[in-house]
Amino acid sequence: MELLRPSSVEELDGGTFLHGGSEVVPLLRDGLIEAERLVDVRGVVPRGVQDGVVGAGTTLAELEVEPAIPDALREACRLAASPQLRNMGSLAGNLLQATRCWYWRLDHPCRLHGGDRCHARDGEHREHAIFANEFCASAHPSDVAAALVALGARLRTNRRELAVEELYRLPDEGDRSTTTLENGELLLEVELPPVESSTYLKAMDRKRWSFPQVGVAAARADGETRIVLAGVAPIPWRIESAAQLDRATPLPRTEWKVPLAQALVRRALAALA
Ligand SMILES: Cc1cc2nc3c(=O)[nH]c(=O)nc-3n(C[C@H](O)[C@H](O)[C@H](O)COP(=O)(O)OP(=O)(O)OC[C@H]3O[C@@H](n4cnc5c(N)ncnc54)[C@H](O)[C@@H]3O)c2cc1C
Ligand code: SF4
Repeated sequence: MELLRPSSVEELDGGTFLHGGSEVVPLLRDGLIEAERLVDVRGVVPRGVQDGVVGAGTTLAELEVEPAIPDALREACRLAASPQLRNMGSLAGNLLQATRCWYWRLDHPCRLHGGDRCHARDGEHREHAIFANEFCASAHPSDVAAALVALGARLRTNRRELAVEELYRLPDEGDRSTTTLENGELLLEVELPPVESSTYLKAMDRKRWSFPQVGVAAARADGETRIVLAGVAPIPWRIESAAQLDRATPLPRTEWKVPLAQALVRRALAALA
């Protein structure tokens, strides 16, 4: 395996991107991805915050203490993972982390691995989704993604500009991917439009180092409130109001997430008010 360290976007020529490596290295070790060429993109991807633009190479540790970003993003970073992981983990890497579904991580031939079954639907799915869980019942693990979608953030890549919301898609029979990222596409920057107020609340099974059971990001801007949930669907899940949670489609052992999400949404809206 070769490791490249380019210093400009023009030098990129295929390979698997690596920033902090906190996700790529375990996936390589466990044989869940294969790579002939690893490309360390730390010399290419901007880092730091300036005038409402966040470099995609900024670490979560830097963002959790950054006064110039909205509360929802700062809090989502602070509540993610552990101090060591936040020190290594980049914003881009966080947005592109793979599912934590245990069947996927144990390499069961499930639908996200190209197979024809969702093992979680029939098997153990306590941590899984309550929305859009028909094809794949995984629960999106990124606190940060939910916060950025609620904030109406936009992404700049080496190929296009898009809303962070458009980075994600529900997997289906024809395309098992949960993102719209193209081969060789590199996340460079995230632009944060101004908001009046925002918050991020997270339920987890212990106080630290725990993925969201349910995370709720809420942001108010121009008289509109956007609510986006982590841990409830295969991608960050936007709802228009708390009432929409009545239309959740939980699996037998994910029903507990519905009242949890309802309570967190109520609290998040109260915090904004
Ligand atoms: C034990 C544990 C607990 C965790 N808990 C949480 C949690 O509670 N909440 C949460 O939100 N996250 C959590 N995480 C995820 C953690 O935040 C991510 O692992 C981390 O942010 C990934 O960043 P990285 O720079 O190390 O990514 P890498 O491992 O370097 O990369 C991850 C993915 O992104 C791609 N990539 C990296 N940079 C770019 C780029 N610029 N453009 C395009 N593709 C790129 C890589 O190819 C790879 O597919 C946890 C992780 C672990 C291991
Ligand atoms: S929830 Fe998704 S990742 Fe998990 S077993 Fe089902 S298809 Fe695979």
